[in-house]
Amino acid sequence: MPELPEVETIARGLANVVTGKTIADVRVTMAKIAVAPPGVNFARALRGERIAAAGRRAKFIVLELASGRRLTVHLRMTGRLIFQAAGAAAPYPYTHIRLGFSDGSGLCFADVRQFGRMRLLEAGDPWDADGGVEPLSEAFTSEAFVSMLDGRRTPIKTFLLDQKHISGVGNIYACEALWEAGIRPNRRSQKVSKPARRRLHGAIRDVLLRSIEARGTSVDDYVDAEGLKGGFQNQLSVYGRLGQPCNRCGTPIVRTVLGQRGTWWCRGCQK
Ligand SMILES: [Zn+2]
Repeated sequence: MPELPEVETIARGLANVVTGKTIADVRVTMAKIAVAPPGVNFARALRGERIAAAGRRAKFIVLELASGRRLTVHLRMTGRLIFQAAGAAAPYPYTHIRLGFSDGSGLCFADVRQFGRMRLLEAGDPWDADGGVEPLSEAFTSEAFVSMLDGRRTPIKTFLLDQKHISGVGNIYACEALWEAGIRPNRRSQKVSKPARRRLHGAIRDVLLRSIEARGTSVDDYVDAEGLKGGFQNQLSVYGRLGQPCNRCGTPIVRTVLGQRGTWWCRGCQK
């Protein structure tokens, strides 16, 4: 599932190519994927709309429309948002929604497994993704993170994955940040020392920023808005590296299961 760096990369790519474009034609071939408020026809409402901006909130891509409406997109497991320049012969494979722009270019929402959603929100409709703090925002300070863990009995990795606390960190970056900070994934959150919490705060931001720099991690289906794979899979320290030597201490990486999620870590240097 795409996490913050992948969604951020897609949003930045889209901002470059769809901002200012006018939607001339909307084709929906899988009704459940296009969600609109009751009584609103998704395709009809979008025709004639201009895209004012593209950005990200949590793991959602948000297209701001000139009328004040918003389109939010969650890619879930296998969703892809692909921009097509004018003259594309056919929609991207498995496209269920295609927004055709007045200049002949278009935006395809493709999803093999059909769990993704594109949701239309009316101007002023309340919407707050998942509610957690953005880990790259100024609000996510070291002090704020240190106190977030007070009194939390859940394993630290499970805490990191809970989108109510921090938005956009999923399995890959939780594993990587815990390795970088030298913390066992199953340590109870409240038992993580203050210095270790500060290290983890820095590691979360560091791993997310480095992945954005590399345009995300392509271990599953993720591709950016141009259909290109990311590069951070070549920089992973633990995720998916079962049996390979730890880059820091040489101990073979193990895989355990925590909160029903595969968890890669080093018994040698994560305490
Ligand atoms: Zn190690």
